[in-house]
Amino acid sequence: MKTSIQIGKIMGIPIKLHITFLLILPVFAWMFARTEPQFGGFQDVEPELLRYSMGMAASVLLFTCVLLHELGHSYVAKKHGSDINSITLFLFGGVSSMEDIPRDPKTELKMAVAGPAVSLLIGSILIMIHEISRQELLFQDSPYMRLVWLIGYINIVLCIFNLIPAFPMDGGRVLRAWLAGRMSYIKATQIAAGIGKMFAIFMGIFGLFSSIIWLTLIAFFIYIGASEEEKSTEVSVILEGVKVKAIMSKEVQTVSPETTVEELVDIMFKYKHMGYPVMDGSKVKGIVTFTDVQKVIKEDRKNVKVSQIMTKELITAREDDDAITVLKLLTRNSIGRIIVKNDEKMIGIISRTDVLRAVQLLE
Ligand SMILES: [Zn+2]
Repeated sequence: MKTSIQIGKIMGIPIKLHITFLLILPVFAWMFARTEPQFGGFQDVEPELLRYSMGMAASVLLFTCVLLHELGHSYVAKKHGSDINSITLFLFGGVSSMEDIPRDPKTELKMAVAGPAVSLLIGSILIMIHEISRQELLFQDSPYMRLVWLIGYINIVLCIFNLIPAFPMDGGRVLRAWLAGRMSYIKATQIAAGIGKMFAIFMGIFGLFSSIIWLTLIAFFIYIGASEEEKSTEVSVILEGVKVKAIMSKEVQTVSPETTVEELVDIMFKYKHMGYPVMDGSKVKGIVTFTDVQKVIKEDRKNVKVSQIMTKELITAREDDDAITVLKLLTRNSIGRIIVKNDEKMIGIISRTDVLRAVQLLE
């Protein structure tokens, strides 16, 4: 299922909105409109239309600032040669999806600090504007100036919250970068992730006892984030230097476009693989998997040919590619296997199982 939509590109990076984000936008707008003025809300603003418009403006601006924060990270990452696939705005902020996080602690440190620095800069400027306008008695207590203050304040909170030294927050990366200068990268990640998890547990419990349920919810996401960060770092360190050609399967069982789905099911039982390249002579025409088979009802399997159900748009790898790159391709596209080609010729196939088995063996 497609869970996010692209709204544009900045610095060549696709900017996407996750569906959870589209749901939360009006909720935030409503919240800002209903919050009392001393907390920066617009509860007293009349008429009603202006009140809710201000709420919506605050909501949109809040996420614009989250995006600018993410772009801060991306800018530094790009400057140091890392590729950013996309930035997705989620329920709880933004996530930059990166080709690979630089393993150089100094670069990682700069990158991690860049986001909070952007938030701090925006926050300081807005609060300063608000302060000046207050002293000059301009726009005194107009909803517009309150909006300036509110967004400024939120940016400062965004900066501080992100500097908490817990994965997957930026502070966790700062901590890992600092530790990585003193110990192995894996060890540094484990410690930083451990602190992240502990922090999440305390925050979750605190949320439960103080019945601030959203704290518990955020804590849950922090816990998951910390665990994922730890796992993915471990895997990428283990797979360092491992090439596709070392772990791919060279003997590949293939099927022809003319094979019927019924025959294909028999082949699947016999060879116990879930996916097969479809070959017309020496040419790869596509790939057919168990998922494709499931779309054909039993009665039709005799008549439907593989060419009718196979995936034609192929994602391929080269034998000199890094195993970790292939694992990321598999994950990003949620597929089980990738055909390895040398020029136009297929020379092997590499599956998620191949990569994970290699991880286990090397561990
Ligand atoms: Zn950040």
